[in-house]
Amino acid sequence: MNALPESHAAVRQSVLAAARDVRLLAVSKTRPATALRALAAQGQRAFGENYVQEALAKQRALVDLDLEWHLIGPLQSNKCREVALHFDWLESLDREKLIAPLDRHRPADRAPLNVLIQVNIDDEDSKSGCAPEDVSALAAAVTAAPRLQLRGLMAIPAPHADPSQRRAAFRRMRALFDALRAEHPDIDTLSMGMSDDFELAIAEGATEVRIGSALFGPRE
Ligand SMILES: *Cc1c(COP(=O)(O)O)cnc(C)c1O
Repeated sequence: MNALPESHAAVRQSVLAAARDVRLLAVSKTRPATALRALAAQGQRAFGENYVQEALAKQRALVDLDLEWHLIGPLQSNKCREVALHFDWLESLDREKLIAPLDRHRPADRAPLNVLIQVNIDDEDSKSGCAPEDVSALAAAVTAAPRLQLRGLMAIPAPHADPSQRRAAFRRMRALFDALRAEHPDIDTLSMGMSDDFELAIAEGATEVRIGSALFGPRE
């Protein structure tokens, strides 16, 4: 369960080789705080967690480090306060109802909460994310909330075995991102690509990749 330093270096190397200015988010769900600490010792700062309570326990264990915390899992409305208090980024905003409580609970002495809108790009019933046609209205609502900062879009395309289908989903996301940026010139983040397909995602314009197993080894 320990982090694999060589593996982290190799992934970081290939991300850097594939594109400049791509953020590597280390997805640390199910990993113990010691594994995050090992990656942090090699310079990794941004960590992505799926579950709020699990993340808070690790944040307490790693409070001596200056880390950046991203929530990437589905958000329930009863967790908005904790997310506003304890995270730097929310990557999974998918409905308007969450905006007011996040905005209300974001402390005045912290920077605004960075927000990505999660898009259900493959229209899968089982996955969270808003429909592509709802992005524009949701983005306008985020922008109207003073304690939230719209930064861009996130997606988890269906794990098609056929790479050309994955590639098509990444390409649709990039088009959506470019269209949104015409309305909101300040947005800068398109979060897509995981261990199996991050190079494809970067080739199609990802600015952030979210990588778990390629950094930490397979999850149990
Ligand atoms: C688990 C997870 C990842 C990382 O997946 P790997 O295949 O382990 O790289 C990325 N994004 C989200 C939203 C996840 O839940």
